[in-house]
Amino acid sequence: MGKLVRCISDDGTLLIMACDTTDIVQEAFEIHSTSKVCTAALGRLLTASAMMGSMLKGNKDTLTLKINGGGPAGSVLAVSDSHCHVKGYVVDGSVELPLNAKGKLDVGGAVGKNGFVTVIKDLGLKEPFVGQVPIVSGEIAEDITAYFAASEQTPSVCGLGVLVAQDKSVLKAGGFLIQLLPTAYDDVIDRVEKDIQGIDSVTKMLVDGLSPEKICKAVLPSFNIEVLDEMHPVYQCDCSLERVQNALISAGKDELLDMANDENTEVKCQFCNKAYNFSSKDILDLIKSSTED
Ligand SMILES: [Zn+2]
Repeated sequence: MGKLVRCISDDGTLLIMACDTTDIVQEAFEIHSTSKVCTAALGRLLTASAMMGSMLKGNKDTLTLKINGGGPAGSVLAVSDSHCHVKGYVVDGSVELPLNAKGKLDVGGAVGKNGFVTVIKDLGLKEPFVGQVPIVSGEIAEDITAYFAASEQTPSVCGLGVLVAQDKSVLKAGGFLIQLLPTAYDDVIDRVEKDIQGIDSVTKMLVDGLSPEKICKAVLPSFNIEVLDEMHPVYQCDCSLERVQNALISAGKDELLDMANDENTEVKCQFCNKAYNFSSKDILDLIKSSTED
């Protein structure tokens, strides 16, 4: 189970949240057997989506965060909800790249820079909210910051980190997100910028044993920070036979007729790898039920 703490400055000018998502990112690695760089990419996206999901208000609201930069790993996608349930995948999670010029996992190289960050919020309304901004670096934290500035007009600072061991397991993962409230004046922005100049990376703070609450305080030393609430992000998939059947039906009759030629069709959930098996008869029944509607 992860831990996410949300705080407010005592002058009411900003919100900051921080989280430890080590367990979630480790689970994602175990499900998807991702390469080191893809574990880092997916882990950063899952961490960001946990924090963004925590800001949803409705019980059934969901948020999909997708980065699609044309890199060798393909798109990376994460889905979260207001209860901090998260799930995600990398299209080609086996891609490994040499370390970048800074000696770090080359997340930007794996994700690519030619594309968009897309946020889809399903708030139970007729149409979902869709926000999209061009990718800045593919390193994800900067891209999230750019998204909030351009699409939600909210000045933000995002930090994300995933530390992967030699054996590919996840040693630490987490992040923080600062959002200025409309009450913030220019001097608040200057103070935030000054504060974050001197901070350690998220993974360094986690390795040093800082809790999410202490990370909030360490990131903004010149503010008095008060804890608002605490949440526990978990990796959780909500796939079901019915959902997979609906996905198959939406693939279209021709596709289904093609599948019916095989004795058995296995469909794996992209998020949790659970296998759903359909016999030729099952597929023909699906075609029948879909044409009856
Ligand atoms: Zn699933």
